[in-house]
This record gives sequence, C-alpha cells and structure tokens, in this order.
Amino acid sequence: MGKKATYREQRLLTRKERGTFNDACERAATYANRHGGVLEVAEHFLDRSGWSHATFGIVSVDCVGRVLRYLDTGDTYSLTLGQEDDGDVFTTTWGDWYKQAEREHCEAEGVISCGCCGEFTPLEFRFCESCGRPVSTGE
Ligand SMILES: [Zn+2]
Repeated sequence: MGKKATYREQRLLTRKERGTFNDACERAATYANRHGGVLEVAEHFLDRSGWSHATFGIVSVDCVGRVLRYLDTGDTYSLTLGQEDDGDVFTTTWGDWYKQAEREHCEAEGVISCGCCGEFTPLEFRFCESCGRPVSTGE
C-alpha cells in the first residue's frame, strides 16, 4: 500500500521536518550575520527556506529615537527578525522590542510612560504632564 511520495511531496515533508518558523528565524539570523549582516539577507534566506508566506516585507517601528527594522509577520508578538542600525540581525517580536526600548529609555532618563497617553513624565510626578491623568507604575 501507499505510493511513493512524489518529489514535490518529498520536498514538503523535508521542509516540515526542518522545524518551525521560529527555528527558521534563528537560522536566518545566523546566516545573515555571516553574510553581510543585513536584514534583507535574512529575508531571502526565509523565502528560500519555504517561509515566504509567513512574512510581508520589511517594515520599521521607532521608539524614542531608536528604530527597529523587522520582517512583518502581521502579529505584534510573534517571533520575527529585526535589526537596529548596523547591528546584528536578531530574533525578536516588535512588541517586545518596543517595550524593552521604552523601558531602557525610562531607566536612562528617569521618566515613566503614561498608561493612558504613552507620553513620558518624570518619575517624581504623580500626574502625567501631557494628559493630566495619574501616572501608574503598573504596565
Ligand atoms: Zn498621559
């Protein structure tokens, strides 16, 4: 019983066995950093690995002066690949990156991000300078 898998089926099986999109992202980051260290190389690697359907091009997000270029997966907290300036390509989610960048900015500047409007207010203030609401320390 069972006919021999066609070449195409075999290829699909092989791809499946090569793991998840997250695994592919890790490999793509490693590959890209060995070959020029740019996000575009990682994108091509993913496309060639059969994941072209999983990303929708390179987009960027900025947080208080820092810019992350990343592969859009259509989801804030799904793993993808990103790059800041000329740094290494790394795996991240843009949501986590944003939170981290914001946290680092707050620590460096002694400010807190308003839970209502997102503006930054000095830590010692109890009310947001921008919207006047009480500044909450919870995330
Ligand atoms: Zn506010």
